[in-house]
Amino acid sequence: MAAATHYYTVALMGNPNSGKSSVFNRLTGLRQKVGNFPGVTVEKKSGELRLDAHTTVNIIDFPGAYSLYPNSLDERIVVQTLLNRADDSYPDRVVYVADVTRLEKHLLLFTQLHDLGLPLILALNMADVAAEEGLQVDIPALSAQLQAPVVLLSSRTGQGFEALEELLRQPPQPLAGQPFYTLTPAENRLAAALEVLAPGTTPYQRLVIAHHIDWLPWVAKADRLGVQAAAEAVGFQPLRAQVDETMRRYDWFTPLLARAVRSQGQAARQQFSTRLDRILTHAFSGPLIFLLIMLLVFQAIYAWASYPMDAIDWLFASAAEGLQQWLPAGWLSSLLVDGILAGLGGIVVFVPQIALLFLLIGLLEEVGYMARAAFMFDRLMQFFGLNGRSMVALISGGACAIPAIMSARTIGNHKERLITILVTPFISCSARIPVYTVLIGFVAPPVTVWGFLNLQGLAFMGLYLLGILAALLFGLIFKYILRSEERSYLMLELPEYRPPVWRNVGLTVWEKVKTFVVEAGKIILVISVILWALSSYGPGNAMEEARAAAARTAATEQLDADAAAALSATRELEASYAGHMGKLLEPAIAPLGFDWRIGIALITSFAAREVFVGTMSTIYSLGDGSDELTVRDRLAAERHPETGEPFYNLATSLSLLLFYVFAMMCMSTLAVVKRETGSWRWPILQFVFMTGLAYLSSLLVYQWLS
Ligand code: GDP
Repeated sequence: MAAATHYYTVALMGNPNSGKSSVFNRLTGLRQKVGNFPGVTVEKKSGELRLDAHTTVNIIDFPGAYSLYPNSLDERIVVQTLLNRADDSYPDRVVYVADVTRLEKHLLLFTQLHDLGLPLILALNMADVAAEEGLQVDIPALSAQLQAPVVLLSSRTGQGFEALEELLRQPPQPLAGQPFYTLTPAENRLAAALEVLAPGTTPYQRLVIAHHIDWLPWVAKADRLGVQAAAEAVGFQPLRAQVDETMRRYDWFTPLLARAVRSQGQAARQQFSTRLDRILTHAFSGPLIFLLIMLLVFQAIYAWASYPMDAIDWLFASAAEGLQQWLPAGWLSSLLVDGILAGLGGIVVFVPQIALLFLLIGLLEEVGYMARAAFMFDRLMQFFGLNGRSMVALISGGACAIPAIMSARTIGNHKERLITILVTPFISCSARIPVYTVLIGFVAPPVTVWGFLNLQGLAFMGLYLLGILAALLFGLIFKYILRSEERSYLMLELPEYRPPVWRNVGLTVWEKVKTFVVEAGKIILVISVILWALSSYGPGNAMEEARAAAARTAATEQLDADAAAALSATRELEASYAGHMGKLLEPAIAPLGFDWRIGIALITSFAAREVFVGTMSTIYSLGDGSDELTVRDRLAAERHPETGEPFYNLATSLSLLLFYVFAMMCMSTLAVVKRETGSWRWPILQFVFMTGLAYLSSLLVYQWLS
């Protein structure tokens, strides 16, 4: 007879910083799936673990929570799942991860979960730290008192994981013991009134439902009113009851811990953390050190990442060349090379930046530094609707908004995370630099002021400052218009400094890169093919005619092969759908001082802003591979068709610069925002307000100066 197979769901739960994710990483490794809890943007990680030939468990890594009385959206997810047996994520068993060196805090939620009637395993994590500090735990005594199997673990060394897996191999048994918390008579009456609503639950479970009856999404309206009436009838005061319950639980397990846990050197490590904090979070040296560290992060994604990025560019260019030679010229070769291969290149080229940024952020997070940085800047940033952790996103945004936006995932408060995602693309990224380089000469002469400052350098800085100001200003605006029930609370507890678990860092990098390439990559590829089609095809036989006309001109003017090709490219671009769109745009952008040529560049810039330079060079027949200086010289020679004055005067150039500072012109960013927020609503809103601001400011400046 074949043995029966068991498949059941295990929830990993625990306080933030208990090491829950590290335990999850050890148990599931690369077999992780990342999704969202239904209806919300809270990340849900799950993964399967095959324990033996007939037992497989599905492990869900729940968000960290301190108690069943939630303060954040993350905690609400935990609570609403555990109160509803019909929920898809309702676990058959909970592995409760607690930091063994902080049990006096971490046991609260454990005792609450016990009273919900969930089969529990208590995993005491950080055994390695405990050993170092001479902390001794009487496991059998603890297990007997807490009525649950207890294992001592270290996700750093792997100690105890075999024992944990052995426990998981035995099917979960319904909990038989006594609840730790005895309901008061009034609470009992209330719980009894809820019996119909939630049959088969423990009295404590019903009590917690009563506490949260106002917001639990699965409660019908009639039931809600009924419970509210019952609560009123027994004189139930939720806040007071929560405090009383919490105190009684602490009173119960504090003496128990005093007997079961003997500590010796715990103070030493805490002292070390405190001493380090005196420097790292000091009012003056703290921010300074943070900025130095951020300088390193910036250097990494801005400068170091450019080597692998150049290599990737080269690789794709060579592949394109190879393909072009190998395939007969025609639409297929063009689609493969200019559409698909260009799109793929545009995706892969971001990988080094994403990997490097998350390597560094992951490390800083692991050693416990990130929580301090967030703590230092929380107050300041919350004024702008942002979060201490938004600093990292804003600073990384100076290299590229894509990894920066992905880094906002560590922001716990959902409104602050959303605002960070919405305003980060205002920060001038490296793709804007080529555009600034081409145009800056038209707004500022290369002179030195006050003896040492270069005026063009100052103008450059001004553009960056404008981006930063816009980010903060819009943060402030969104703070007031976006609604959120979630309070923004300052961090109360800081983790201790500790050496990193490299496995965690590696998995973070892997997960970010994979998500970007797969999820955002899809969208980028599609848009890239659309942009290719727009610039390779035109209405009717416009393209053929353009080619023929260019060939005739080249023949009469006796142009050489390169010049003829450049001319043909110009005429084709003009005749293409993109060219038509540029001309269609002209009336709308003429008040900003832009002509249809700039219109085309605005459209193609959507692939990536730096494409501006390439498009301008095609439009002005400058041939392949023209750099910024060549393009700038050509633009300088451009005359206004009616007045004969230079076309790129101060008004037009400044207007165009402002447009590039503010406008949302990056499909990859939009794709990432869609992926990170789970809906098209936010990227569309972002496109509208950024481009709207760009239009308005360009309009004002052009009209004022011209
Ligand atoms: P979570 O917030 O509960 O998911 O906690 P994490 O898994 O992110 O861990 C918090 C910190 O503790 C990280 O810096 C981990 O590297 C570290 N950590 C986790 N488990 C252990 C452990 O067993 N030993 C040591 N020394 N550090 C650990």
